[in-house]
Amino acid sequence: MKRKRPVEQVRAKKFLGQHFLTDESIAERIARSVTGCTQCLLEIGPGMGVLTKYLVDDKRFQFKAIELDSESVEYLHRHYPNLDVIEGDFLRLDLGQIFDDNQFSIIGNFPYNISSQILFRVFEQRNRIPEVVGMFQKEVAERVAAGPGSKTYGILSVLLSAFYNIEYLFTVHEHVFNPPPKVKSAVIRLTRNDVQQLGCDERLFVQVVKTGFNQRRKTLRNALKPLNQSLDAIPEEMLAKRAEQLSVQDFIFITNNISTENVNN
Ligand code: SAH
Repeated sequence: MKRKRPVEQVRAKKFLGQHFLTDESIAERIARSVTGCTQCLLEIGPGMGVLTKYLVDDKRFQFKAIELDSESVEYLHRHYPNLDVIEGDFLRLDLGQIFDDNQFSIIGNFPYNISSQILFRVFEQRNRIPEVVGMFQKEVAERVAAGPGSKTYGILSVLLSAFYNIEYLFTVHEHVFNPPPKVKSAVIRLTRNDVQQLGCDERLFVQVVKTGFNQRRKTLRNALKPLNQSLDAIPEEMLAKRAEQLSVQDFIFITNNISTENVNN
């Protein structure tokens, strides 16, 4: 008879964001969306290996996977004996160690509960990660891929589009997962552009973007007040806009103009 899992473990599982993809043609399509611009590829959250199957023997890559759930890791060891699977949390992984300091691409049908955290990590590690192909909940995918003027345009859209070309590849219906999530999903691809430096204080840039969107209904004149910087050098026309109307270049302009003020003070 199968033993019941302890309550703690069942509860823990709920936070793993496990929705296993059941449609192999979609798995194959995701796997084929990696362009192969690096020789190293990391899959986040392989689960039962539906995507892994199409990657593990791909000769273009040195392939590794990281999976937090020990039961899935065991399953993967059994079914893919050649797979190099790390048991652990992607958010705590030392990204410099995993492929001997080499650049690597990321792929996955990601755990949706940590989507934003994964994407912030990608942003922080952008010089190490030239490409990301992955499935997110549709709303997150749309947000990341949105441009200025769109209601879904937000912090991650600005930060990521400063350094990546972002493509919305395709939408995936909830019925192809087990258990089905409550929302639709979508696959996007991020490809590193050639911008090395933004030409402004990048820490302040992140702060400006976050503060601007924190109160996204307000005009920038009001939304940026918490920064405690003089906005005198920024044209009135720009301050009358809302964060969602600004391009990456506009945010760079603002950053340069408030940071100069600060230095002069
Ligand atoms: N790729 C599989 C599973 C998707 S569900 C498929 O398409 O069917 C998301 C997977 O991410 C689960 O297997 C879950 O255990 C794993 N996971 C959740 N949080 C994680 C983390 N922090 N680091 C690595 N894997 C994680």
